Amino acid sequence: MDTFDQQHIWHPYAKVPSQIQTYKVLSANGVYLSLEGDRHVIDGMSSWWSAIHGYNVSQLNQAVKQQLEKMSHVMFGGLTHDPAIRLAQILVDITPKNLDKVFFADSGSVAVEVALKMSLQYWHNKNQPNKHQFITLRGGYHGDTLGAMGVCDPDNGMHHLFSGVLPKNYFVKSPSMVSMDEALEDLELTLNKYSNSIAAMILEPVVQGAGGMRIYNPQYLIKAKALCKKHQVLFILDEIATGFGRTGELFALEYVDVEPDILCLGKALTGGYMTLAATLTTDEIAHAVGTLMHGPTFMANPLACSVAIASIELLLNSPWQDNIANIEALLNRELSPLRTEDNVADVRILGAIGVVELTRDIDIGKAQKLLIDQGVWLRPYGKLLYTMPPFTISQQELLSVTNAIKTVIKEL
Ligand SMILES: *Cc1c(COP(=O)(O)O)cnc(C)c1O
Repeated sequence: MDTFDQQHIWHPYAKVPSQIQTYKVLSANGVYLSLEGDRHVIDGMSSWWSAIHGYNVSQLNQAVKQQLEKMSHVMFGGLTHDPAIRLAQILVDITPKNLDKVFFADSGSVAVEVALKMSLQYWHNKNQPNKHQFITLRGGYHGDTLGAMGVCDPDNGMHHLFSGVLPKNYFVKSPSMVSMDEALEDLELTLNKYSNSIAAMILEPVVQGAGGMRIYNPQYLIKAKALCKKHQVLFILDEIATGFGRTGELFALEYVDVEPDILCLGKALTGGYMTLAATLTTDEIAHAVGTLMHGPTFMANPLACSVAIASIELLLNSPWQDNIANIEALLNRELSPLRTEDNVADVRILGAIGVVELTRDIDIGKAQKLLIDQGVWLRPYGKLLYTMPPFTISQQELLSVTNAIKTVIKEL
């Protein structure tokens, strides 16, 4: 373990000095991370959903190098460039027809902040400034900045630490935890009572990610959207985790072809190469919002936009539906039988997502050591041991991941 790292550097959701082991990565290639000590592990996490093509991908390397020779960055205030224009065209093209205005943000959390701010400015300019709160599903996750934290699950999120500071929002039952009818009833009751003060509903379509890795019936989206429309509440979909194929559709909203008023993209947007996110909206909302009060220093970074274009082209030119269907079939075959294990509460699979929920909290340090001994990198949290592998993973490599999961479950 590197002592400087341990003593001085914060890692995500961790103490400094660090309490659990961090592993030093020397390089990454294909689906493998090369760790110090000549160990090579399969990355079953795709670096938090993002590295969908794996690592050191020649087309993506090439895109960055070519752009680097021209310019790595220029300010976006008053200037523009081809990588941003081309990427925006592609995003407008591949997302629902009603979305044709693009804001480039520098991380998923910021894309969510921008979506929330768009909604607030929209109602402000419609002379309804009282509509300044948000409604969202329990068990959701939308990022770590203050506004985004305010719409994360109030129990498993970080609300208790920041309770005096976070804006007060409305949390309704999630169709991933109760029946769809019960969830819709709760949404309708809450909208009936409070829609006068609600600017927008924000939710992750079909899969609730970091808030608990739960899956729900996509039909909920159609009905929730209709209720929001009826109550004059904007409908924001956060596809930062689900976008770019992860669930088996290019975007999870395509399961039911729902058209959100605002859409957030991030994570896999650049194939995991660089930080970039985007918030898309409609002509009508953009017009009502007027001057959008946001402008990050590194907005629309040309390197990030270039690699995003290359990543999307690489994805769309690959047999990604087949690859993901094959991943899903193997996950089903190998992980579903774990449901009968004593310490397994549930197994959930959709697309290239495989989740095993245990009956009690996992000792991350111990689990990771066992996994690395078997040549696999996963990052369990809470009771969840899960994989979201690169779409390029071979069946043999994926079998190594599922076998490691099986072994670890027996030893935890
Ligand atoms: C990861 C994530 C975010 C936040 O993105 P960052 O780039 O980490 O700020 C927001 N929403 C969802 C659904 C996510 O999975």
